[in-house]
Parts: sequence; C-alpha cells; structure tokens
Amino acid sequence: MENQRLEEIENISSPCRLCPHECKAERNEKKAGFCRVPTLEPMISSYGPHFGEESFLVGRGGSGTIFFTYCNMKCVFCQNYDISQLGYGKVIKVEDLAKIMLTLQKAGCHNINLVTPTPHILSIVKAIELAKAKGLHIPIVYNCGGYESVKTLKLLKGVIDIYMPDFKYGESEAGEELSKVKNYTEIALQAIEEMLSQVGHLEIGPDGIARKGVFIRHLIMPNDAASSFKALELLAENFPGIAVNIMDQYYPTYLAERYPKISRRINAREWSEILKFAGSLRLRIVS
Ligand code: SF4
Repeated sequence: MENQRLEEIENISSPCRLCPHECKAERNEKKAGFCRVPTLEPMISSYGPHFGEESFLVGRGGSGTIFFTYCNMKCVFCQNYDISQLGYGKVIKVEDLAKIMLTLQKAGCHNINLVTPTPHILSIVKAIELAKAKGLHIPIVYNCGGYESVKTLKLLKGVIDIYMPDFKYGESEAGEELSKVKNYTEIALQAIEEMLSQVGHLEIGPDGIARKGVFIRHLIMPNDAASSFKALELLAENFPGIAVNIMDQYYPTYLAERYPKISRRINAREWSEILKFAGSLRLRIVS
C-alpha cells in the first residue's frame, strides 16, 4: 500500500492536482501554481513545541508544530502571512523533515502538528514513513484551511490521525472575497465529510490528550464577515455533534485594512450572540 500510495500522490503532485485549484503546475520542474510552492521538497519556516493550541493537543509537552511555507488560500487577514503569503522559509530534505518529527517526539510533544500541509503532502507522507520506521508513534495532526480535495484526502487514509480543518466561511462568496478561493463552503463540507469517514469524531483520552478524530476551527470575524451563523448551522446540520473551536482572536493584519468590514476586532455583542446561537445547535464546543 505504501508504495502505491506514494506513487498516486507523486502522480497528482506534478502536474499538480493536490488541492481543489488543480492548477497543474509542473512542480517537478520547479514551477509554482496558485500556492506558489516552487518545489516538491519540504519547505518549512520553523518547528517546535507549541503551547498556544487547544488544550487537548498541548497537554504538558506541547503540540509538535511544523510550519510549512505558503498556502493554497490567500486570506487577506492571515495572521501568519509572512509564512503563508510572503514565503518565509527554506527548502530542506525529506530525511531532515523525518528527523524533525522524531526530535519533536523526543522533546515530549504529544503529536506532530502539520500546519498548512496541503501543497507539501508528497514530502510529508515520505517523511512520516521514514520517521515511523525509526519509532515515530505519536498522532499526526493535519492542520489545514479546509480547502481540500477529497481525492487527495483519500490518499491520506491511515496516515493522518487527527484532522483539524478550518471551516472559515458559511457562504462561498466570502471565501472568494477574503481568501481568493472558489466554492469554499461546498468544498470544505465535502472535505470534512471525508475526514470524518476516515477518523470519526474527536476522541480525547483519559489523560486529556486527543488520540484521533476531527475537530473544526471557526474564527469569528467582525460584521459577520465569515457568515458564522450560517457556518455553524451547516456544521450542525451536516455533522451533528462535531467538535468545533469557535475562536475570538481575530485582529486586522496583513491586507485587512483594505476591507472596511474586517478592519477591526469583534466586539462583545458579536461574541455573545454567536456563542448563544452555537449553544442552541447540536455541536460539541471545544477549546
Ligand atoms: S497544491 Fe498548489 S500547485 Fe497544487 S493544485 Fe493546489 S494551489 Fe495548485
């Protein structure tokens, strides 16, 4: 299976059809597509134990986070825009990526948290295979923006233990305007369905640490710019009981000042209204 899996991922990596953009970039010739990743080697900006993630990822030892460079979305408010949009990072070898995973495990991290992994799936799967042969056993977390192709996700079955997609927008028009992607809402819902079929709902062990499953992140934006009421309703309707972290930490950064409706933080009224609404739905609220 592993060879077949790698062959299939290699096949859709150049011309690249890894994500819903399907831009067919000849990445093995160092040509970049929409995401601007100019290589099929791993490209990362940093790694280390992260203590700012959800409590069930962090525990005592932290979440072993690896930040991959660039992104297949172009969110005008991205809080990591230096990495995701400006391309801060460097190309490393697959063997080095495997070593990083083992270093994070040795440091006591509870999981390997792959941030913005989508364009890097080929090198990630190769590195996980190498690291597992040398004893990697902690859960692998796929931390993405939700704009994922079901076909590609199917190739990750058995590799990923925890899926942590954003569900950014309840209406695709918002995704076009603020993240420059088409059909976001429909595509993310299909992706979440596939993720759930692979690993089920979020499971947290008696030690308070996540073992497997799916949980969703949704960032509340000012003036309901993310169509959050609709987004939460869609999640509850399509996936009753799904775990959702509703986040309040939005602040205007990167290009957000150019968009008046998102040029401020959310206020107390917006926050309490969405929490009240979420409480009326069949959702499992986590943080
Ligand atoms: S991963 Fe990048 S190059 Fe590949 S289809 Fe998506 S945006 Fe295009």
